[in-house]
Amino acid sequence: MGTLGVLGLELVQMDTPPTTAYLQIYTEKRCKANCQFCAQAKSSSADITHIARGMYVPFDLELVVNRLKMAYERGYLARTCIQTALYDTWWEDTVHLIKRIRKDCRIPISLSVFPLSTKQYEDLKKMEINELVIPLDACTPELFDRIKGKSAGGPYSWKSHVDGLKRAACIFGKVGTHLMLGLGESDEDAVRIISKLNGDKVNIALFSYTYIPGSQGNFRSETEEKIIKHYRTVQLARHLIMEGIASYSDMRFENGTLKDFGVSSDILLSIIEKGEAFQTSGCPDCNRPMANETFSKIYNFPRKTSKEEITSIKRDMGLAGRIPQS
Ligand code: SF4
Repeated sequence: MGTLGVLGLELVQMDTPPTTAYLQIYTEKRCKANCQFCAQAKSSSADITHIARGMYVPFDLELVVNRLKMAYERGYLARTCIQTALYDTWWEDTVHLIKRIRKDCRIPISLSVFPLSTKQYEDLKKMEINELVIPLDACTPELFDRIKGKSAGGPYSWKSHVDGLKRAACIFGKVGTHLMLGLGESDEDAVRIISKLNGDKVNIALFSYTYIPGSQGNFRSETEEKIIKHYRTVQLARHLIMEGIASYSDMRFENGTLKDFGVSSDILLSIIEKGEAFQTSGCPDCNRPMANETFSKIYNFPRKTSKEEITSIKRDMGLAGRIPQS
């Protein structure tokens, strides 16, 4: 919906417009996979104009591509991100969309998709896909199995996703993944996999799990206070690891809860106050405004944080008057 607003195809009130155009390939068939959090899943009864919180309204392809070209050339958009569901003609439809965009426009394209064959990765590279993203979504193999693998009635496995990431990285030279927090993982589960993926040169984008009415199961069992504290802790640890400031082995955990970030309190405070750690993570120029948020709770800030927002981040972390000591 925000993308349609930037393209001038819908009236949308936004304090921060998206800098990436988010395109979901529309089909009335439900996805053959069964990810428990997703509105498109085969056993879900949620509205199919959603994936998670974002709303994807069907629109005329030619009109969208023409406006995409204008918006990119005029500097309103810096990237487009294509997502698809698993259905019989998903590959043909995805190739058609990529080629249609590429016919008119040089905008960088991200494609977020389940693991593919090596030949398909090579074909996508030739079609000038700039960022290939394979969403793991879960932080551990057990959670993966429960939310999108065999136990969830889906076709995916942790092993094939990790294998897909490795094969795609060989062809694209880099690869991305998404991790969704709030599915029952501990701080340590999340930080451990972030450290491992970062070591394998995988770019990690964080999402917060959002329950969509009609999707299968509500994984939110913790209080809002605990959910946001966990999210901020993992955002900060991810930033420290990905910027090479601290490593997983420097950090200290107690029963899965992060107790020490492994850097001095002065450094930690200055990093928190810069705010970058809490901005949207992922492909270059991706800000995903309101993808997981409500007006009362922002998980990923889609722009530079204000002083008031930094104060509220410190409150979220329980750091109003205290920074964990190294
Ligand atoms: S990080 Fe943003 S642009 Fe990249 S795949 Fe995820 S949503 Fe798309």
